[in-house]
Amino acid sequence: MSIKSNLENIKSTLNEGTTLVCVSKYHTEEEIMEAYNEGIRDFGENKVQDMVKKAENLPKDIRWHLIGHLQTNKVKYIVGKTHLVQSVDRIELAEEINKRFEKAGLICDCLIQINSTGIDSRFGCTPETAVEFAEKLKEFKSLNVKGIMGMAPICDDPTENFMLLKNIFDDLTEKGLLNGQILSMGMSDDYTFALKCGSNMVRIGSKIFKEAE
Ligand SMILES: *Cc1c(COP(=O)(O)O)cnc(C)c1O
Repeated sequence: MSIKSNLENIKSTLNEGTTLVCVSKYHTEEEIMEAYNEGIRDFGENKVQDMVKKAENLPKDIRWHLIGHLQTNKVKYIVGKTHLVQSVDRIELAEEINKRFEKAGLICDCLIQINSTGIDSRFGCTPETAVEFAEKLKEFKSLNVKGIMGMAPICDDPTENFMLLKNIFDDLTEKGLLNGQILSMGMSDDYTFALKCGSNMVRIGSKIFKEAE
């Protein structure tokens, strides 16, 4: 299977209005260009260095999503380069993003990363602290929180976990804590479950690239 046919297959299964973020971590600029030539403009990277380097070399109309854990000391490198930072998960990070973007006169569109799995080692704020966290983020004027991002644990049926994320999303929306309606959940192996639970942004890597090798 080629990148082109993988993309066609995936696109045919998406609900209308769903954004497909093509996760290009581990993949080359040539592979990214293959997807680009099929009309994809949203790409996700998990490392700052990789994103910055690829952004320099590739077309300027690509929308770069940062989806990996972001260290505060790397924030200075992403100012003005990201379309959406999907992994805002702690106050110190929000503070640093706010400071750096404010200095540059820019606003950082971002998502709150929620760890809905109960696994301690995973990044993300806990479901219990999501409201409090979102309230604090409102104070940061250069941060624009457009929704939430989450990941389900690897299992046969992640529906329960995705529903938990959907409920948090609805709760934050109702409380007026989100400046957008992005619910980013679903990866190669579980995005069909995520879509049924209300996801409107899926982040897919291996199903596009790996199976094309
Ligand atoms: C790697 C990654 C993905 C994509 O995973 P695939 O299984 O390759 O589709 C999505 N979201 C995040 C946060 C990731 O790190």
